[in-house]
Amino acid sequence: MARDYYGTLGVEPKATDQEIKRAYRKLARELHPDVNPDESAQARFREVSTAYEVLSDPEKRRIVDLGGDPMESGGGAGAGGFGGAGFGGGLGDVFEAFFGGGGTARGPKGRVQPGADSLLRTKLTLAECATGVTKTITVDTAILCDGCTGSGTHGDSKPIRCETCGGAGEVQSVQRSFLGQVMTSRPCPTCRGAGETIPDPCHKCGGDGRVRARRDITVKVPAGVSSGMRIRLAAQGEVGPGGGPAGDLYVEIIEQPHETFVRDGDDLHCTIRVPMVDAALGTTVTLETIIDGPTEITVDPGTQPGSVSVLRGHGMPKLRSGVRGDVHAHLEVIIPSRLDGKQSKLLQEFKNLRDRDHAEVVSTGSPNTGGLFSRLRDAFSGR
Ligand SMILES: [Zn+2]
Ligand SMILES: [Zn+2]
Repeated sequence: MARDYYGTLGVEPKATDQEIKRAYRKLARELHPDVNPDESAQARFREVSTAYEVLSDPEKRRIVDLGGDPMESGGGAGAGGFGGAGFGGGLGDVFEAFFGGGGTARGPKGRVQPGADSLLRTKLTLAECATGVTKTITVDTAILCDGCTGSGTHGDSKPIRCETCGGAGEVQSVQRSFLGQVMTSRPCPTCRGAGETIPDPCHKCGGDGRVRARRDITVKVPAGVSSGMRIRLAAQGEVGPGGGPAGDLYVEIIEQPHETFVRDGDDLHCTIRVPMVDAALGTTVTLETIIDGPTEITVDPGTQPGSVSVLRGHGMPKLRSGVRGDVHAHLEVIIPSRLDGKQSKLLQEFKNLRDRDHAEVVSTGSPNTGGLFSRLRDAFSGR
């Protein structure tokens, strides 16, 4: 059965050559394997290409219009039948569809290119993150060559047009693929796409226009930074080839762990161990905070294990606002694990005075147990 080539391209049987060409280019742009690697798109692209091959050839189109199929007569040439010379006419149109001008070169990219961004990491203590700090860091990047100020040439010599590519910056090669002959362009290996070469390069940079150098730069780190944040230093990155404008330098903060505090955003958490008797009678503890120095924490009489004492406004400053988070001191109550005779006797006396205190199994429904189940239950009921 004859295939519907007009339908494949979405045109009427009375379509002009121009209309067929236009329909084909539109579809080729959507379906070309370079654009659309999808399996079904590729199958469709083959169909569309075959349909165009047939309908753009007056002889083959006449066979179609007479109700035949010119691709069947070729003995199973079928969908793959556009390899080689038969597709010659259509191939140029594929390139036109993509490059808008018969597959011509897109021109040299020029020798002067913008430089790349660089990334450096710097370790900061929690205190440095809290207060901000001015750091001197050593950067190893490409800087402008002072021998040629970026031109890459020695003395008064000038660059010349590349002989390999004639100044186009790219070279073309023809490859065979399922599309038939495909012309591909790649950057010229001699001038690396610049279109020109330097016959007498600068002795200092070898023609690159830049040299590697180590230098110290000063970075002002604002208060409130945390791990992963990056400070951008405009135009402090790599100078580009040919002395092109420098990229940016990014300094990424790595916050080092602190021996007392764990940071959670702007809040700081620490753990304070309170002896059993102090938790029962109440006490004060001095905490060395990050910014405010020694600060007293009151442990109320009857403090329970796991309770949290909050120092409002003693945490980390929020970046660029100065509003500060809190310090959460998690209180751990320590039960003495070994008692001497006198201590045991005293506690026994204490127990006698508290004869209503005794170990008990907690009902899951009883209020104020503070136990695991009550906490779970609260979590689930959202109390
Ligand atoms: Zn130089
Ligand atoms: Zn070249």
